Amino acid sequence: MWKVIGHERAVGLLERSLNEGRLSHAYLFVGPRHVGKMTLAINLAQALNCLGEERPCGECSQCRRIGEGKHPDVQVITVQSETKTEIGIDQIKELQHSSILPPYEGRHKVFIIEEAQRLSDEASNRLLKTLEEPPPGVLIILLAENERALLPTILSRCQIVELRPLPVPLIEEELRRKAGPQEAETLARLSSGCPGWAFSALRDSRILKERQEEITGILEMLNAGIVERFSYAAELSSRFSRSREKAFEVLNLWLSLWRDMLLIKGEACEFITNIDQVEILERKVDGYTIDQIKGFIQSLKEAWGQLQDNANSRLVFEVLMLGIPEKGKAWAM
Ligand SMILES: [Zn+2]
Repeated sequence: MWKVIGHERAVGLLERSLNEGRLSHAYLFVGPRHVGKMTLAINLAQALNCLGEERPCGECSQCRRIGEGKHPDVQVITVQSETKTEIGIDQIKELQHSSILPPYEGRHKVFIIEEAQRLSDEASNRLLKTLEEPPPGVLIILLAENERALLPTILSRCQIVELRPLPVPLIEEELRRKAGPQEAETLARLSSGCPGWAFSALRDSRILKERQEEITGILEMLNAGIVERFSYAAELSSRFSRSREKAFEVLNLWLSLWRDMLLIKGEACEFITNIDQVEILERKVDGYTIDQIKGFIQSLKEAWGQLQDNANSRLVFEVLMLGIPEKGKAWAM
């Protein structure tokens, strides 16, 4: 049984390739955080090594050990610590060394490269050699939020499988197995189509609490003076240097709140993500024009791209804070 929720097209494609023995030697799974990329990659590694009839069975020793992260032939390569920003060349050298050795206990070796957009240029070029001449029986799966930051030469050697956000009702249905109807509905909406987030928030109440604190901070900035905005920018920037992942989460929250304000303005409340904030957003949106909101959403997206491209984070956040539109004034940038 494939455990990944939804993504029928991707699962169907992989299943057919597997059954017909024409699986590619390298895949790139592209999609937003928590959408199911890692679950799908683990499922594929299980399917390749499964001893059961219906692969992946999820129950044989191979499937179980892979699912528990204890299988020696299935390795996850990721940025080594929160302070590092790149997957380094040494990690890829290790992958290469390991890939030419025969599997220990499974039939196939599988290397999963998480956040492949963070491969250093050196590491990418080194990986390219393996992708050009893959050792037999080895599968490499790259995971990334977008293809943009990967070298074209890497892209051209991977089969790209795109994973889009899932429909909210599907996530709600899955959540209902473990949560009450109200909680399932709220978490499904807040997840923006990414089930991994919803299930994490169900397990760990701190996630929702932290989210609420972030939202309070964000909404305060809308009426804040220049000094507070600059100190917020400085704080975000220092968080960015400690953990890029966390800082991107905050930026995504900014984006989702402003998109919701646009939906409120356009009277399309049924599509709102942050349903627990509707009343306060309705008050906040008052006085902004649609153009102002659209303009600021564009600025948020640009900031996102600049940070991905390693621009100076302090500067990016300061410019962003200065660009928060003022009520009653036309949008000008
Ligand atoms: Zn199995």
